[in-house]
This record gives sequence, C-alpha cells and structure tokens, in this order.
Amino acid sequence: MSTSTTTRTMLKVEGVHKWMGDNHVLRGVDLQVRQGEIVCILGPSGSGKSTLLRCINHLDPVDGGIVEVGSERVGYEMRRGVLYEQGEHAVARARRRIGMVFQHFNLFQHMTALENVTYGPVKVLRQPKAASVARARELLATVGLAEKEGSYPSQLSGGQQQRVAIARALAMQPQLMMFDEPTSALDPELVGEVLAVMKRVAEDGMTMIVVTHEIGFAREVADRVVFMDQGVVVEEGTAAEVLDNPRHERTASFLRRVR
Ligand code: ADP
Ligand code: MG
Repeated sequence: MSTSTTTRTMLKVEGVHKWMGDNHVLRGVDLQVRQGEIVCILGPSGSGKSTLLRCINHLDPVDGGIVEVGSERVGYEMRRGVLYEQGEHAVARARRRIGMVFQHFNLFQHMTALENVTYGPVKVLRQPKAASVARARELLATVGLAEKEGSYPSQLSGGQQQRVAIARALAMQPQLMMFDEPTSALDPELVGEVLAVMKRVAEDGMTMIVVTHEIGFAREVADRVVFMDQGVVVEEGTAAEVLDNPRHERTASFLRRVR
C-alpha cells in the first residue's frame, strides 16, 4: 500500500526472547518495519503473535534481544538478564509512539464515543480541550461515525465500537499502529466495515502491524506478510510470495487450514 520511498526504520526487533513461566514463547524473533509499511502477521493460535505485540509495546519486558521503536533511540535491550538503556522515560516515549487496537475494543463504557476519543489527548497529551474535541470529531468522521459521537459503547455495534477504538488510538498521534486480531470478535457482517477503515488508515500513510486471519485483507493491503509459528518468524515476503508461493510447509499447511 505504501508508495513512500523512505527507508526510515520505524521498528527494529532483534533476537527477541520471551518466556512465560516455563514456556519459551518467543524464540529469537527478528522483525523490521519501515515508515509507512503495512505488515500483516499471520500464524496459528499460540504462535506468539500477541506476545510479540506486547513486547513491542513494552507491556511485557523481553527476556533477551532488542526492541527499538521510532526515529530516536528509545529502545531497550536486555542481555543475560541485564537491562540496558531502559528508563521509565524511554519506555514511556516508545509507548507514546504506538497505538494499539485489540480484539476486544476496551472502550471506556461510561464515556460517549466523542469522550473516548478526546480523553487521551486532553488527559495524557495535555492538549487543549477545544482542539482535542475538534480533532476527535474529524477522526470520528474518518471512521464513518460522525453521527454517533454522543453514543455510549453499549449503544454501538461491535464494528462501530472497534471503529471508535481505532479513532481513539489515532487521536494519540501514533507513529505506529498495531492491531491484534481486530475483527476476530465481530459478527461476520461487521468485519468489512472495520477492515475498510483500516485500509483507509493505511492509505493515509500510517505505519501498521496487523495480526489477522483475514487473508484477503493481507493480500490487498500488506506490503509484507510475516508468518510466525512456535515463537519464530518462519518466513516473510510480499503477500504474493508468502500467500501464493510459501517456501515452508508450515506456512502452506496453515494457509490450507484458514482458507
Ligand atoms: P498468539 O497470539 O499467536 O495466539 P500468544 O502470544 O497469545 O499467541 O501466546 C503464545 C504462547 O504463550 C501460548 O503458548 C500461550 O499459551 C502462552 N501465553 C500467553 N500468555 C500467557 C500468560 N499470561 N501466561 C502463560 N502463558 C502465556
Ligand atoms: Mg493472539
């Protein structure tokens, strides 16, 4: 989707390991994402996709390897149990650069759609209220919900709630948006409207990592498709390469199952 010629690296993941108790969940993951790139991550349940996103967002500390986010050097690095260059500030700055959209939309239930989108810019970014509201209205229009700004989450469909969640993430002006199976919890008839909004965000030049089982979306939107299994990146390439001509049997067998 990206037509940008820049090669600025937005994200660098190198040799990342993560244990969950005795479970070696990430076993040396390498991933680089350039500015404006749309990367779709596919892989069976339990392969470590959500864990990888949590490590990228510093919601979970890595047990080895490097995660670097953004143009400045704000990554952190852990080797042999020793943490280098972390600091609350580096983690906070890295996190600030990333917008997250989850399977379950996690909206503030007691706030209207407009309040959900305005909250972060006002409370966290300390931007003026009037400007934040104006920007939130623009974003709600972008996701096709201008008419719903006064609705509470319980008054919205799952697809509408997820679109509010996307607007809320965008309101924080992230440099990277990560989506973790954003349509998996939706009724089938609501999937398309959310994918259409994600496609629009991609076309606007956002850098995106999308964990999804939506092969059609990956084929249409992804600059690169990454297949993960058992805590490693098994293969990556263009959608045509990975989806039509997988080099590894594990990829081929996964694709046969999800198609
Ligand atoms: P995916 O998103 O690809 O389905 P996850 O990253 O959620 O995979 O999980 C990868 C592995 O880590 C699985 O074996 C899962 O059981 C394990 N796991 C995930 N979260 C936890 C946790 N909080 N505690 C223990 N094990 C976990
Ligand atoms: Mg997951």
